[in-house]
Amino acid sequence: MINLSTPIQELPKVGAVYVKKLKKFGIKTVQDMLFYFPARYDDFSEIISIKSARQKLGETVCVQGQITEIENTNTFKKYMAMTEAVIQDDNSEIKVIWFNQPYLVKSLKEDDFVCLAGKVSLYKEGIFLNNPSYERINEIGENEELTHTGRIVPVYSETRGVTSRWLRYVIKPLLYRFVEQIQESLPEEIIKKYKFLPIQEAVWQLHFPSTFSHADAAKARFSFEELFLIQLNVLKEKLKLMLKKSPACPMDAALMKKFTDSLPFLLTDSQKKCAFAILKDLEKTAPMSRLLEGDVGSGKTVVAAMAALSIAKNSHQVAFMAPTEILAKQHFKTISDLLKDFDIKVGMLTGKDARITKDGETFEISKKSFNGDLENGQIDVAIGTHSLIQKTVTFKNLALVILDEQHRFGVEQRDYLIKGKKLIPHLLSMTATPIPRTLALTVYGDLDLSLIDEMPKNRKKVKTIIVEPGQRKETHEFIKKEVKEGKGVFVIYPKIESQASKLKEAATKADGDPFSAVSGSFVPQNYGFNSLLSLPVNEVKALKEEYERLSKEVFPDLRITMLYGKMKAPEKERIMLDFKKGEIDILLSTSVVEVGVDVPRATIMMVEGAERFGLSQLHQFRGRVGRSDMQSYCFLFTTDPSMLNRKRLKALVESNNGFELAEKDLEIRGPGSLYGTQQWGIPDMAMQGLTNIFLVEKTRAAAKELLGKDPELKNYPELKERLKQFQTKIHFE
Ligand code: ADP
Ligand code: MG
Repeated sequence: MINLSTPIQELPKVGAVYVKKLKKFGIKTVQDMLFYFPARYDDFSEIISIKSARQKLGETVCVQGQITEIENTNTFKKYMAMTEAVIQDDNSEIKVIWFNQPYLVKSLKEDDFVCLAGKVSLYKEGIFLNNPSYERINEIGENEELTHTGRIVPVYSETRGVTSRWLRYVIKPLLYRFVEQIQESLPEEIIKKYKFLPIQEAVWQLHFPSTFSHADAAKARFSFEELFLIQLNVLKEKLKLMLKKSPACPMDAALMKKFTDSLPFLLTDSQKKCAFAILKDLEKTAPMSRLLEGDVGSGKTVVAAMAALSIAKNSHQVAFMAPTEILAKQHFKTISDLLKDFDIKVGMLTGKDARITKDGETFEISKKSFNGDLENGQIDVAIGTHSLIQKTVTFKNLALVILDEQHRFGVEQRDYLIKGKKLIPHLLSMTATPIPRTLALTVYGDLDLSLIDEMPKNRKKVKTIIVEPGQRKETHEFIKKEVKEGKGVFVIYPKIESQASKLKEAATKADGDPFSAVSGSFVPQNYGFNSLLSLPVNEVKALKEEYERLSKEVFPDLRITMLYGKMKAPEKERIMLDFKKGEIDILLSTSVVEVGVDVPRATIMMVEGAERFGLSQLHQFRGRVGRSDMQSYCFLFTTDPSMLNRKRLKALVESNNGFELAEKDLEIRGPGSLYGTQQWGIPDMAMQGLTNIFLVEKTRAAAKELLGKDPELKNYPELKERLKQFQTKIHFE
């Protein structure tokens, strides 16, 4: 018996090749097939006479008629197969041409009636229908049951070898046969309240809508449902956490005052507010799960240090995790400095190194003795990469986990920290990526948010400039001047090596003639004499070549160094330290410096191939400068002069506010541009829903209400099942 959960390979029309292809869309069963919704529609719903179609040159029309001739012919270009036909209705006829579909003559014969939808075009001999969609009908005037023409026709996002036509051909009979087996998943009361289409009708209408407003109604239902599932998921996580307990660590107000007095600056009001919210959370046994959000340079680290201090003084331990070794090392230094007068032992564990500080002095120790110290509680604050929370690392009494530059805890880390344990650590994540409100209420809906929404007072706004190609020289002169005053310069490249240099390498290997492999335009004046091969005009600059050029030709007197992901950790660390101390003038780097690096003496951020980066990411780069009272600059170079790109970069010039920029990214590039959303596996409808704050609020309220009544969803077995399926598909981080 075939039913909704039958694998598609058991369907008569779906052969092995298609099974494999469909798997790529995540389609494995009949149900998956029915829930594979179209991306858009073609409106072929108006059928007109051939006579009036002949008047509509350039328009897409739908006509019906009888085939009077059909044959394959050769085009003037021999390699393209062409099928020519003529169709007629009561008082007119029109020529039809299909390209590259020679098999058509097997299914469409003379005297057959057809419905065709395509563009009216002009060719030497006159008007014709260009490559139309087609289907056979019984007679002219038939408009029941059309699938590919004569209606609003679904268009699916196609990948190689699976066409929309094929999908329609397979999905439609499945709908007839199985749609009644689909069980309603939304609670009755929600359907009533929002007047949603019931699920069976909604599925039909999404694939083969009667009108566009039917399609919209169906879409509205599924947008709601998908966001609703996200909400249920996130809120259930939250409930789960509420059953656990964390160590209560009372705040010592006098100690906190002593700490803030020890700083070389005054905390901003925002920093104080956030620190207070966190310290208050830590006093409770309810596990904290908080996201500290603050633009780059807003000073999150010192807030985290206060939380760490409070925990340590309550004789518990802190794990402070950074996404990269560079950052872990930087934090180790910063936190050690901040806490040096408070009798706190700070340790650091990365891939190879283990270090501790005591009273301001740093010692290298073996990993083994680091682990020992951690296990018997001698280390209060352990800083490191993700390697800190692993089975091989044992804390005596871990009470707080801080995660820097991450939106939230990865599923595995979180499970590791929480699963099977009664007493779990409090969780604090920190991020500089602004989270639009819709996301805060959905994917991050289980976290409490604290926002640092002001910058330290001494800062000047970074001047952002889109540099025209002709002004490169002036930029170089400016850099020389700034460096002379002891300031530091970052240059970011979207890639390490250029295509040209890779080709060059390949060509040299192949036949020893580097020029044979590449043709195209050259810009030698832009690229210097010592390069064997010039760059194609539009290629973005690459780190390694530019290092050669800048250090030999442009800035021979300056100290220039490269930094990129593949370098060994100690080398990276040394470079960052040298740069910080002022022993390096210009640091050329890939996007590894994106997060967190703090070099107050740097005043210039130059970004090559700026179009390659999202606005939020560019804003992050820019946040690497302007971290002192000196005026700083951000120079953006681009190889893409398109309007869209201009518009994006201009947004960056005009706004210094990470939130605004994230919203702009959302507006200009769509929800896919938001950090992570692509990897999350959020379904399309929910994605679109994520741009609609009202919908988001509605689904959140509905999910809260339902879980309040029935936290285990006992009375909603279908919904529970859908949620389970949904959870295997999405994975937030
Ligand atoms: P982010 O929030 O991007 O992680 P950091 O914590 O690295 O920012 O802080 C950026 C810089 O600002 C550091 O050099 C830090 O010492 C300094 N800073 C932090 N808070 C203040 C403040 N209230 N006034 C002045 N400087 C501050
Ligand atoms: Mg930081």
